[in-house]
Amino acid sequence: METPVNHYELEDSKGLWPTIVERFNKNVSDNGVPYFKQQPSMEMDFVRFCNDNGLRFRRKTILEYSGRGPTDRPFYYLAVRDTREYEQEFIRLKCDGGGKGMCWSGAEQVRKVTLTAAIAKVIDQSDIVVKNYPISPRVYLISRRLKDLMEPFRFSGIAITPCLEVGAKYSEDEAAFASRSGRLEKEAKYFQLNLISRTPGKPSIGNLVAASGCPRCHALSIIDGDKESEFKPADLGAEDFQRFNEVTTENKGDQHMIGQIALISARALGFFIESRIKGLKPYSTDPPVKYAAVQIRG
Ligand SMILES: [Zn+2]
Repeated sequence: METPVNHYELEDSKGLWPTIVERFNKNVSDNGVPYFKQQPSMEMDFVRFCNDNGLRFRRKTILEYSGRGPTDRPFYYLAVRDTREYEQEFIRLKCDGGGKGMCWSGAEQVRKVTLTAAIAKVIDQSDIVVKNYPISPRVYLISRRLKDLMEPFRFSGIAITPCLEVGAKYSEDEAAFASRSGRLEKEAKYFQLNLISRTPGKPSIGNLVAASGCPRCHALSIIDGDKESEFKPADLGAEDFQRFNEVTTENKGDQHMIGQIALISARALGFFIESRIKGLKPYSTDPPVKYAAVQIRG
């Protein structure tokens, strides 16, 4: 069962923010997002307060799954713990960022990921993590334990590549991302989980209301629409793991993002939850949402 979480963004609080926090404090997240989880009378009070004071707002709805009981949507957003490190020697950038910082649009992985002892420890604790860099392609790392647990389920949309360890010796060929090595597959303790399937289509985010990106290739690093992302049924594939990096908007056409967003099937999410995989983390803190369902129109 999913619960709608309505969250609000005020265009201008006109100096009334302290009053809002005082009056609606149980419904304001740590970083200042008003939200309501099936609290219609509180929410009506809030909307009335905004209307009475001429505060314009945008309201969006996330469908939250608590992690208990049956899921009733086919897909969820994948959110996992990050490694808090920025090493990315294993990729080749395609865009130079046009002088405004790094741009990962079109970046390609050329070598296998090399793990330090510190990162290995984080994977031991969490079973799955995501590296902070690169932003694209997103690099998920898993323990051998999780790889073995996943195997009988034959989840689709993924490929698994062994990781290298700092200090060990590898040939150029073994270290190349594309090459396969029976020795590494047998001996590696950690693996990269590659999301190889893209969604067939892109979600709509309504009107584009905020955007900022690369001056060279125009891919966006910040993107916000006035609606929650929504797919049409044909825009999603059948694979258990899928990713996308494009959205469509009502006012500015299709937009390309620098980052990637990962989706996971209900079946795979159920497996992670039942296996008590610690690396899963909440979808969002503002508003607080544990697992978020992918919204599909119709
Ligand atoms: Zn760029």
